[in-house]
Amino acid sequence: MTREQELLEQLETERAARLEAEKKLEVVIESKASELSSSAMRLSYLIANMLEGVLVEDENRKIILVNQEFCTMFAIPVLPDLLVGADCTESAEQSKHFFSDPESFVRGIEIILKNRVKVIGDILLLLDGRTFSRDYVPIIIDSAYRGHFWKYSDITVQQKYEDALIRSEEKYRLLIENMNLGLLEVDLKGKIRYANQSFCIMSGFEREEIYGKIAENIFTEAKNRKLVRNKTESRNKGMVDAYELEITNKQGLKKWWMISGAALHDKDGNQIGSTGIHLDITEQKQLEFTLRHAKQLAENTAKAKEIFLANMSHEIRTPMNAILGLGKLVLNTDLTTYQRSFLESINTAAENLLIVINDILDFSKIESGKLSLESISFNMPKLLNQICKMLVLQTEEKGLQFNVHIDTKISPVLVGDPYRINQILLNLLSNSIKFTEKGSISVDCRLVESNDLNQCLEITVTDTGTGIEKEYQKKIFEKFSQENVSVARKYGGTGLGVAITKQLIDLMDGKITIESEKNVGTKVTILITLPIGLLSEESVDGKENNFMKNLKAKRILLVDDNKINRLIAKTILSKEGIIVTEAGNGEIAIEMLRTLSFDLVLMDIQMPVMDGLTATKLIRSEINESIPVIALTAHALKSEMDNCFEAGMNDFLSKPFEAEKLIAMIAKYIC
Ligand code: ADP
Repeated sequence: MTREQELLEQLETERAARLEAEKKLEVVIESKASELSSSAMRLSYLIANMLEGVLVEDENRKIILVNQEFCTMFAIPVLPDLLVGADCTESAEQSKHFFSDPESFVRGIEIILKNRVKVIGDILLLLDGRTFSRDYVPIIIDSAYRGHFWKYSDITVQQKYEDALIRSEEKYRLLIENMNLGLLEVDLKGKIRYANQSFCIMSGFEREEIYGKIAENIFTEAKNRKLVRNKTESRNKGMVDAYELEITNKQGLKKWWMISGAALHDKDGNQIGSTGIHLDITEQKQLEFTLRHAKQLAENTAKAKEIFLANMSHEIRTPMNAILGLGKLVLNTDLTTYQRSFLESINTAAENLLIVINDILDFSKIESGKLSLESISFNMPKLLNQICKMLVLQTEEKGLQFNVHIDTKISPVLVGDPYRINQILLNLLSNSIKFTEKGSISVDCRLVESNDLNQCLEITVTDTGTGIEKEYQKKIFEKFSQENVSVARKYGGTGLGVAITKQLIDLMDGKITIESEKNVGTKVTILITLPIGLLSEESVDGKENNFMKNLKAKRILLVDDNKINRLIAKTILSKEGIIVTEAGNGEIAIEMLRTLSFDLVLMDIQMPVMDGLTATKLIRSEINESIPVIALTAHALKSEMDNCFEAGMNDFLSKPFEAEKLIAMIAKYIC
């Protein structure tokens, strides 16, 4: 082969190799191009489906890419693909009418395009109320500006939420700042991190003075530190409660705060401190102290009143006892008709006076809550008959008809306070007799309801007397009230009877109603429910009578400093054949009991040298544990009775007493 042929062959081989290489390059280019185009497709698909409006322009402001959302946001009625290649130089002018400040929108775009610097989150307000957020990103390739990317997001809803949130935050911030409640936030070490305006006013400190300081050191007195620490501990355990705390403010004034606290957590749930709401309750506290003081004073006054009542009761009843007791004794002696009639008048006056005294004492006792009711078995029909028997004479004297009707279905044993029921009915019947000149008085006791346990009774007292004015009926239950002044002049009375009756019925959980017509008459109705007692629980009265005759030669020590009282009691007891030994005070009685033997002791309470309670305690501890000791007390107060039992007495009888009651009481203990 010649040199030329060789060269030709070499050239041919090289050409073939170049062609081969070119082919390969073509394949590579083709595959790269297809890769690029699928990337671009992916990108445009992504942009087309973005929820934000996107517009991509080239360096000459020709549209490269735009999505449907963009067209929708700016109400462009053309498909996005048809906009590709369109010129955007006028677009700001064309769409400025959407915005609430069109000129600044146009100016803004001009500046952005001039600067070619990325801008994120521009807020644009639209005339129709929408809010857009806009991002601008310049496209820089190989340091050359190749267009830009706009992204618009409709943030109207989000913005509304944010606005609402800001407004709400502002509202609560202002509320916290200005409310009358002091708000204090402390960290885990108790250091103050935040205090609202009210707290500063309450405490007298400026914020700067307390921020970073330990709250406890500033406000809490040493004596209260333990309380505060306990409260903080339980608060940290999640317990929320409120407590009162006495503090000293900046001016050194003592103040009372009501504090309610709760643990404070960060967003991950870790406790970072606690927050407390503080209410200044100094005024309320002062009021509370004043009230407590006033209450104490009232209690002391009530106590003093009770003691005064007890003394007064004693002072009045002692001479009354003498008058009534001696009066009755004298009536049993030989008297001229005149003397008898005068003495009977004295006795009646004394009895009336005793009723008035008892009424006043009763009312004071009820008012001070010192009156307690008995709960004993009694026979209601028997009680009613006894009362009516007592009054029948008075009705006969006035020429009044007296009708009594008692329901036979009423249980023979009911449980309640027969003495107070007696008092109620006596009050009502006495009034009826007092205010009735002609016609009749009727008592009717009816069974209204009954079950195995209780009976509800309706007792009516009806008269054909003067009647009560409608106006006065409204006030009749008020104490010391009478229909008019002439009533007191003509009929006497204190105006307490009906008031006491009402109070007693209230205490029994009963009801009282009064119907009355002037010059026609009055009807008082009482409703009370009482438990049914057992037949075996016979009333006290029944038992006592059986023993009455066995007292002959019994020895009784009669202890009383009042000679007349001793005379009365001795006269009554001697009639029964009882041997009475007298002692003028507790000390003498003790001496006698040490040397002589007695069956029973009748013991006065208030005596000089040694009183009855002290004497009884000595008898019980040193002389005789079992000898019956009966108190003869001028006091009708429950507290006094309790004292008697506490001292070791067996029973008590209040003076002035009926002869039969004294005998019955003695018989109860020594027969
Ligand atoms: P007193 O009878 O001591 O005045 P009361 O409290 O028992 O006090 O009665 C108050 C007043 O009610 C009487 O003064 C009288 O004016 C009137 N009153 C009570 N009961 C009757 C009645 N049955 N008929 C007419 N008036 C009555």
